Formats: sequence, structure tokens, C-alpha cells
Amino acid sequence: MRVGAKTDVGRVRAVNQDGYLVTESVLAVADGMGGHQAGEVASCLALETIAASGLDASCSREALHRAMQAANSRIFHCAQQDPNLAGMGTTLSVAVVAGRRIYIAHIGDSRIYKLHNGQLEQLTEDHSVVGELIRKGVLTEREAQIHPHRNVLTRALGIEPDVAVDLREVTVDIGDSLILCTDGLYSLVDVNELVGILCDNREPQAAAEELVSLANRRGGNDNITVLIATFTGFSGDEEQGWEDSSSQRGERKGQNDRI
Ligand code: MN
Repeated sequence: MRVGAKTDVGRVRAVNQDGYLVTESVLAVADGMGGHQAGEVASCLALETIAASGLDASCSREALHRAMQAANSRIFHCAQQDPNLAGMGTTLSVAVVAGRRIYIAHIGDSRIYKLHNGQLEQLTEDHSVVGELIRKGVLTEREAQIHPHRNVLTRALGIEPDVAVDLREVTVDIGDSLILCTDGLYSLVDVNELVGILCDNREPQAAAEELVSLANRRGGNDNITVLIATFTGFSGDEEQGWEDSSSQRGERKGQNDRI
């Protein structure tokens, strides 16, 4: 797996409240919100909790769910204790790499895409007002990019004592890439441009830098974060995936279960 990542404050905001995490088997982005430094605190706490949770290629669905809930609780309790941090929250999109299986956990309007044979597939749903309107067919993606309520989330980490987590499992092939990004990227760079830049740059770091600089040339009105992982090969025995094990236990299978 080759990984490239870039986060940038953009051209308008004073601080960068986005963040990302890359470990041997965990990729994550977070986009914090809240006044003063609170958004930055929220995204940092989320990524720190995921980093400290020991998730690896053998993680269970339950372990990933617990890690997301732990991040939620930590932000929620910090916000309760410090008036300067009241109301802070963050998005959090996590991909755990287990060979060719990818376990995804997601809350908020950051995105995870898979690029396969030049086709980009969005693996996460935007938990935002405009995301819901797109799913209902009321808005197009392009209309959503300029909608006045495009920043309003319907779900975020740290706002309530408990949070619903979207969990799913996908597989990747050699040559595929995962792209994790915040709304500061996808609201200024459309899917065709994203695919073009990914296909023109074989090195993920070069692609990440070019995507951020394009968003900045378009105005950089938000913090911009992009993380790209390209799969170059898979070693070792395949771990048994969630869906294999759940079907053996006779539980229901789900593409995108909400817990
Ligand atoms: Mn943002």
C-alpha cells in the first residue's frame, strides 16, 4: 500500500480543524467544528482515540464500533467539562485495511471513495442536510456544492452521548485506491477532476498535493484534507472478513448496517 496525504488550512479560515491519521492498517480523516479552537480539539481527540484503540487487520466489527463510540464519548465528555469546548463535534471516516478487505466506519460528511478501473465509487453517505436531499433526488451534487445549508450536518461525533455509526466492508484489488477527504475538497473539486488527477499521478502524495492546490485555486474556502492509499499487492493469509464470519454464525448480512 502506498499512501499520500495532505491537509491544508485553505485560503479563508484562520485555523485548520481538519486532521488525518495513517498507521500500518488504519486510515482516517476528521473535520472538526466548533468556535475558537474547539473544532481542532474535537478532530484531534477523535483521531487520537482511533490511533490508541489498537485497531488492526484482525479487528472485529464490534471493535471498530467500540472505537468510534469511545471517540464520541471522549469528545462529548470534554465538551461537557470545558465551557470553551461546548458544542464541539467532528466528522470521522475510518478505513481499516485487512489485506484486500477494507472495514469502514463513518459519521458526518467527510467521504471515502474507492477508485477501481478509473471508476470512482463513494463508499460513505454524507450525513448532511444536502446529502439527504441528494439521496431523495431533490438536489444534484453540483447544486449541493453551492447550497446555503451545505455545511449543516445531520450526524456528528461528540454532540450526543451516543451516536449511530455506519459500518460496512468492501474489497479492493491490486491497483485500486481509497480516497478519504473532507468537504473542503469535494465541494470545490468534482468527481471527474478527482479521477483525472488520480489517474495522472501514480504517486499518491503527488495526487494529494495537486488536489489540495486545485481546491485552493478555486478559493480554498474551507480546510482541505485528502488521503490516498493505493494497493500495490497483498501479502500473507487473508483474514476472515466480517461478512464471512457473520454468515457462518447465521446473522444477517448487511452492506451498510447501522448500529
Ligand atoms: Mn470542512
